[in-house]
Amino acid sequence: MIPFRETYRDIPLYSPAKKPCRVDLSDNTNLFGAPPSADRVLREEGFLRLARYPAGYAPDLKRAVAAYAGVAVENVTTGCGSDDVIDCALRAFLEPGDAVAFPDPTFVMVPMFARLSALKPVPVPLRSDHGLDVDGLLATGAKLIYVCTPNNPTGTVASRAALERLVDSASGVVLVDQAYVEFTRGGDFLDLARTRPNVLVTRTMSKAFGLAGLRVGWGVGAPSLVAEVEKARGPYKHTALGEAVAVAALTDDVAWMEACAAEAVVNRERLRGALKALGLEPLPSEGNFLLVPVPEARQVGEALRERNVNVRVFEGLTGVGDALRIGCGPWPMMASALKALKEVL
Ligand code: PMP
Repeated sequence: MIPFRETYRDIPLYSPAKKPCRVDLSDNTNLFGAPPSADRVLREEGFLRLARYPAGYAPDLKRAVAAYAGVAVENVTTGCGSDDVIDCALRAFLEPGDAVAFPDPTFVMVPMFARLSALKPVPVPLRSDHGLDVDGLLATGAKLIYVCTPNNPTGTVASRAALERLVDSASGVVLVDQAYVEFTRGGDFLDLARTRPNVLVTRTMSKAFGLAGLRVGWGVGAPSLVAEVEKARGPYKHTALGEAVAVAALTDDVAWMEACAAEAVVNRERLRGALKALGLEPLPSEGNFLLVPVPEARQVGEALRERNVNVRVFEGLTGVGDALRIGCGPWPMMASALKALKEVL
């Protein structure tokens, strides 16, 4: 018998239901598509970049992120999606057996990444208003506390007072996942990464920027924090193409991204109204998605997929129960989801 790793025995592969559907609203990506600069970069320089390695530690991307975020290059780390930045941060700051605390429910990959690095996931339920339980998170004594704002899957934004108290009282690192920040009103906490020694803010090119297929994410924090994450990361986490396209998008397509995000937000609110008219109670959201509590969500999700609409199903979410998470984008897609839901419910 091969002596496989003991701590990996019960770890499943991540596999949300994914039947190909005409309307896929299951992963909160930019449903308007990819940024226009991506087409230009791939056509004009894509082929030329294939035979050589990209430069180690993505210096061009770091410069573009630094300019976009208004920080120095030393404040920036990047990774193969923000998934990778989170994973690297857990490895960088914690020893096997250490605790990672996070609100529950939150991004499902966090407990999974914790287990992959032999860390102890410590969920702390959100308060009944879906706000952070700051005292509960602090009481875990974890050396790394993860907070997602806007939170996936609830869509709620952490209050500044709560997050600042958490950051200022935590004994270790606070990782603030802002994958959906472009859809918020005033929910940007990049300033905490600039002013606090213990805050790493992660962001992604996968959601508002429309580049999920290229797997590019980034993090901002104090240079001493970033230096540790870079050690865990290693030199080559992007393809040369991914780095070049992300640089172009951050430089040339910010207005395009903002227009897509604004329309997703308008359609999110329109969809929320329509769902309420159906007697449903979607949670207020500042992401590009709505969490809709629905009994027997698995069966509902299956019936929607039979109608060519894919949404993300959650069963038994802490404080919520069964629910569907519906990604928001162009109105015709929302209309298809609504029509299918009306038939199913
Ligand atoms: N954080 C949150 C909250 C997410 O929902 C996701 C994607 N589902 C990620 C991080 C990771 O995204 P990516 O690796 O594509 O940057």
